[in-house]
Amino acid sequence: MELDKMDENDWKYHGEGNKSLVVSHLQVCCRLIFLRLSSQTAEQAFRHILNMVDYSKYVMKPLLGEKYVHSGEVVKLPLDFVRQLSLKVQQERPELRCDKVMDTFSGCGLCLPNLTQLPLYHLRDHRPPICVEIKPKCGFLPFSRHITKECKRKVCRFCMHQHYKLANGKWKRLSRYCPLNLFSGSKQRMYVALKNLLEEPQNNLKIFKGGELIFSCKDDAKQQPELNDLIQHLRPYFPHSNGIYNGQQPGKAVLNEFIQVICSALLSGGDSNRSGEPRKVHLSESRPHCEASPFPRDLLRNGNHGLPKDSVLAKVLQVQMLDNLDIEGIYPLYKRVEQYLEEFPKERNRLQIDGPYNESFMDTVKNCPTEDDGSVEYAVGKVHQYRVAMTAKDCSIMITHQLNLEKTRFTYSISILDLDPKPYEGIPHQYKLDTKIVNYYLRSMQAPP
Ligand code: ATP
Ligand code: ZN
Ligand code: MG
Ligand code: MG
Repeated sequence: MELDKMDENDWKYHGEGNKSLVVSHLQVCCRLIFLRLSSQTAEQAFRHILNMVDYSKYVMKPLLGEKYVHSGEVVKLPLDFVRQLSLKVQQERPELRCDKVMDTFSGCGLCLPNLTQLPLYHLRDHRPPICVEIKPKCGFLPFSRHITKECKRKVCRFCMHQHYKLANGKWKRLSRYCPLNLFSGSKQRMYVALKNLLEEPQNNLKIFKGGELIFSCKDDAKQQPELNDLIQHLRPYFPHSNGIYNGQQPGKAVLNEFIQVICSALLSGGDSNRSGEPRKVHLSESRPHCEASPFPRDLLRNGNHGLPKDSVLAKVLQVQMLDNLDIEGIYPLYKRVEQYLEEFPKERNRLQIDGPYNESFMDTVKNCPTEDDGSVEYAVGKVHQYRVAMTAKDCSIMITHQLNLEKTRFTYSISILDLDPKPYEGIPHQYKLDTKIVNYYLRSMQAPP
């Protein structure tokens, strides 16, 4: 990328989240982090992005695996380019996100490979790559002894949160997706999870074709996603499913095959060039089934549970499970750290509360003792682990498929994206939110509307 020759006309709006807006140009994406404080200096903005890159590189990458993580690099963009770009993309932004303001002052951005594209795909096939982005959320039931509400051991956080979000107008319809099905390792349950995501994608599923978004939640929350349009897009990739197939409707057969392809990728070792029966791991010691997600009992018993050890889902779940005390166990430790810092404010740096996110931070995460010895070191270690787990609960998995015409099968590559550090200061909010979600769920179960 030649920074002095940046032309806003080459770049287009690609998407956005809570924290950043993303523009793309061919094989490259650039994340522009939203303005956090109006008084933020360019130096602060630069440090902030550098912290994000370090966190991805030195913390998340070693935990999730080299092959899945692309950390990117900080770039300093010409201010003129950023200003023109922000004007250009403004009309394409979803209305409900427009409360976030683009930073047009610092010129700092995060440059990443465009994971919805595969390099040089056009040499192999005229069909553009299909990329599926899944934000899977937390895939296990908490098992901490600090939990005070029994329902948290039976119903997963995502399913409880759905009721709260519906009540608060965040979404107009409940999603039937349950992360525990996706992370189960059972093909039948994963199939159900992916089907539920297609029926109600919310912000947990996006599909791109040749780098263009073709399927996601509708801006207007009342509108259903267009499954028929998706089927039309997918048809050329599944030529065998186009007749009446297995007695199913042809459209259904296409979706069926598409789900199977995503499932295989999620259970593989990360790219399509490996084979062999992988070793299974059983990460979840607690109840593997969420009571809010209806599923036939017999299927639960005889599925082939456990995820292949190298699979992207096993990696993400393993990091999520660093949260082994639950927010109810973490909050008192956070308060211990706060009390200590009140007395010794200078210790904030040594304890790396706000970074730097380097090997030494990673050591604290890895070598935190299992038993509480009452020390501030233990408390900091657990708080660090909790924040790392929170990142893994909020990441996205990108699976980019390319149809290989010679072998008439899909090749794919898998990456994990959105590995930003979650702020230390966010812990009290997480604690309150957890209480609100659980209490709302309990109330709504007692008195169905
Ligand atoms: P969130 O609200 O999920 O925390 P965020 O603001 O942290 O979002 P990202 O999730 O990193 O931002 O990016 C927003 C969206 O932009 C992603 O969901 C994805 O669709 C797209 N995106 C980001 N980085 C890339 C990339 N390297 N390649 C392709 N698409 C990307
Ligand atoms: Zn659930
Ligand atoms: Mg995201
Ligand atoms: Mg994020």
